[in-house]
Amino acid sequence: MLNISYHPDFMFHKTGKAHPERKERLESVLDVFDSKNVWDTTNEIGAYNVDNEILELIHSSGYIEKIENFCKKGGGSLGPDTDVGSFSFKAAKRAVGAGIKLSEKAIREQKDGFGLVRPPGHHAKIGEAMGFCLFNNLAICAETALETQQRVAIVDFDVHHGNGHQDVFFDRKDVLYLSIHQHPHFPNTGRMNMTGKGSGDGYNINMPLGAGKGDVDYEYVFETLFLPILEQYSPDLVLVSAGYDAHELDNFSGMCLSNEAFESMAKEISGLEVPTVCLLEGGYNTEVLPDSILATLRGFGVMVDYDIEVDRVEQEISEETKQKVNEIKKKLTRWF
Ligand SMILES: [Zn+2]
Repeated sequence: MLNISYHPDFMFHKTGKAHPERKERLESVLDVFDSKNVWDTTNEIGAYNVDNEILELIHSSGYIEKIENFCKKGGGSLGPDTDVGSFSFKAAKRAVGAGIKLSEKAIREQKDGFGLVRPPGHHAKIGEAMGFCLFNNLAICAETALETQQRVAIVDFDVHHGNGHQDVFFDRKDVLYLSIHQHPHFPNTGRMNMTGKGSGDGYNINMPLGAGKGDVDYEYVFETLFLPILEQYSPDLVLVSAGYDAHELDNFSGMCLSNEAFESMAKEISGLEVPTVCLLEGGYNTEVLPDSILATLRGFGVMVDYDIEVDRVEQEISEETKQKVNEIKKKLTRWF
């Protein structure tokens, strides 16, 4: 049975009514989980409350103190897009704790998991909040897992590039990072030539695609590039930055995915038969987000139906996608 991690603390990360990363995102998901009886076919496990030392696996102590004190004083804006309230530090730590609890269970019990968390994490840098993210939830999970495991892979299908993941693991090969994202687009990182450095060269794999791509492009990238690399890398744990802002009805991107693409990607990852933990990143259309998550759960074997929302027209894989996959494959032949 798939583990689901959720904690009420996530609702108390207050960003303001007009902010797109708001508690209504998770409320819409919980409503649909209730109405479709998802809790009956999954295992809800809660989330750890982690100490600051756990955050220090990735973040500088000065940065952690800064966020803690800023929130204690009532919060405000940490930058152009990242707002926090007085409870946000605790909520952000709980999001990390959700990922760690799911990862532990995935490793020990060979059970995959999904974390309904906020704030998200993949833009958070070692010493900087960014893109609605305070702490890099999955990077901390990866570090924690590496205390007992050899290799961790992070797969990131959020429409934005996970610049935080790339920064943290750019010179390391014990964490493989694979990202498919819209480019050019926020945060304007994630070019194909950024393959890592030093012993990490070859282990940071970016697939930046222009706007307008659909399910068939994502499926092509997964089947011909990501999965063969993941099979060869043979990770002990797969972590998924599960963002749903590439959905056609999500205003945060020009990508055109339907929920079927999320099921298909989840199915491919699940087929690797490696313990896997997905944590929620983006996805801002609350009408669509719950079903996008249900589609992912279905890909991991949970018997639940979801609305497709988008009528799929006959699609063709774009030439750009084919060319970029060929190009990156050539560049990676030394490693994969
Ligand atoms: Zn995003």
